[in-house]
Amino acid sequence: MKYADFYQRSIATPEQFWQDEAALIDWNTPFTQVLDYDHPPFARWFVGGKTNLCHNAVDRWCLPGGQGDQPALIAISTETNTERSYSFNQLHVEVQRWAAMMQSLGVRKGDRVLIYMPMIAEAAFAMLACARIGAVHSVVFGGFAANSLASRIDDAKPVLIVSADAGSRNGKPIPYKPLLDEAIALSSAKPSRVLLVDRGLAPMTRVEGRDVDYAALSAAHLAAHVPVTWLESNEPSYVLYTSGTTGKPKGVQRDVGGYAVALASSMKHNFCARAGETFFATSDIGWVVGHSYIVYGPLIAGMATIMYEGLPVCPDPGIWWRIVEKYKVTRMFSAPTAVRVLRKQPPEFMRKHDLSSLKALYLAGEPLDETTSSWIADELGVPIIDNYWQTETGWPILSIAKGIEDTPTRLGSPGVAMYGYKVCLMNEATGEECGPTEKGVLMIEGPLPPGCMQTVYGDDQRFVDTYWSDVGGRMLYSTFDWGVRDADGYYFILGRTDDVINVAGHRLGTREIEESITSHPNVSEVAVVGVADKIKGQVAVAFAILKDAAAGTLEQDVMAVVDRQLGAVARPARVYFVTQLPKTRSGKLLRRSIQAICEGRNPGDLTSIEDPSSLQQIKQALL
Ligand code: AMP
Repeated sequence: MKYADFYQRSIATPEQFWQDEAALIDWNTPFTQVLDYDHPPFARWFVGGKTNLCHNAVDRWCLPGGQGDQPALIAISTETNTERSYSFNQLHVEVQRWAAMMQSLGVRKGDRVLIYMPMIAEAAFAMLACARIGAVHSVVFGGFAANSLASRIDDAKPVLIVSADAGSRNGKPIPYKPLLDEAIALSSAKPSRVLLVDRGLAPMTRVEGRDVDYAALSAAHLAAHVPVTWLESNEPSYVLYTSGTTGKPKGVQRDVGGYAVALASSMKHNFCARAGETFFATSDIGWVVGHSYIVYGPLIAGMATIMYEGLPVCPDPGIWWRIVEKYKVTRMFSAPTAVRVLRKQPPEFMRKHDLSSLKALYLAGEPLDETTSSWIADELGVPIIDNYWQTETGWPILSIAKGIEDTPTRLGSPGVAMYGYKVCLMNEATGEECGPTEKGVLMIEGPLPPGCMQTVYGDDQRFVDTYWSDVGGRMLYSTFDWGVRDADGYYFILGRTDDVINVAGHRLGTREIEESITSHPNVSEVAVVGVADKIKGQVAVAFAILKDAAAGTLEQDVMAVVDRQLGAVARPARVYFVTQLPKTRSGKLLRRSIQAICEGRNPGDLTSIEDPSSLQQIKQALL
């Protein structure tokens, strides 16, 4: 089939299109309406239908005569030197045990469960168990520290937190429990229970009456039978926090039915999934890729999925390729930063493995530069498929749907609009749609297709105000990315329109980092900008004004505050001290000008600057 026809059908007759796609998953009760868009921009998909993500990911494959004995989850840790493989049947047992444990701790349908875990199998069990009983999980990336965690606890108000003694990086344990205790102390919403997996990596103190040990509790629920709770398609499945323009992270809330259909659909058309094969996404469950393409997507497609804890270069830079060879991975998903890291390693590590099982490598999360893309394509000899999307959308907006047609990729472009997405580029100044090769803001006309965010958790108004605008009667969702389209419909992403930066594929809000830095007692003001970096795409760089310059505050002292509060993932690469920051006369920080100077570019229009000498200071600091 021609992709253009497939796409056209999804746009011209979305209800018929998605009705057909919905047949890719199991429904307990059929839906009565494909789409309810009576209250734009809120879209409700598959109204009245009842289904369950855990059923579609696990139970469905365990039927007699099915593939219950085949691998479902393969958890590999090069940090603890362990490999554990669970068949669909075994996963079914584990998930029911976790569901029973959660129920015994008082978790009910609709309750939130916050999961703050390293990349171990138990994290996936916990997610699937929530989905099974209709609890709403909120996974927080293990690299985040106390303050980031506290703001998420405050917003999600979990009844239960699932965590572990520690993660591990490069063989060194990273204790989670002290950070968790600090976060709970900081937050005003206190979970009544904390369930802890003790990996034996770091000592833990327990809070009497609140903290529960997984080992002891699981013994009481070994062969538990917990039936699936059938959920109306539009009930929430999870909340995943993401950074935006303000310091307060947004809880991206997703539904059940639409998400299951979007994943089943994208696994088929984008990732060419085949039940029984193996999928390997190198992301983390703390990010959206981990939700969609480590846990739910591959399992919904009946594939084995690999969860990997460790670095791409330890014990040696061949580790990922050894995994591909051993488990006959057919589809792999990673990020450009990881490929850039691997490119710096001796090529023998990749070449000594038999990678003949691999059919394609998918890359997402940040712009894919041509050098990286061409290098990895040559090394692997398989198609490299860039895909552009966001936490908010849950699955690709732009890419190439190889499962429909073998459309060629184009260097530097993530591809064309994916089915279901009415993508447009808008000229901000005129409010008109851009012509070919004209730069504009990448927007999507509502309704968003199935699988995209339903709302901001607990704050419908913030969802509307943040993302949507009414342009001549059309409700348009903003991605906050600049883009341009060529004459053939291929898009090119040109960076964010807001103050979000992208470090190694991780999305960080500069406001969040600024708020953390100003909590240092000797910092009065700070500006954080994203600066281009050869490996990580971007890094954060801070310019801070000290209250007392003679007090001996060092760059490391400021970095330590960020490490402690937000986690090392948000630590600026450099902190420079200045006595003035470039601002407009109305007091708005000129972050774009600072960024331009850091990247050796022209700082742009400075007619509104209050004091031009402030820019001089930035230049001087960088010398
Ligand atoms: P996140 O929500 O953390 O996945 O971040 C989404 C943002 O990452 C997007 O809005 C883009 O700015 C950027 N991004 C994601 N994928 C790509 C890609 N393939 N090419 C360029 N930028 C991307």
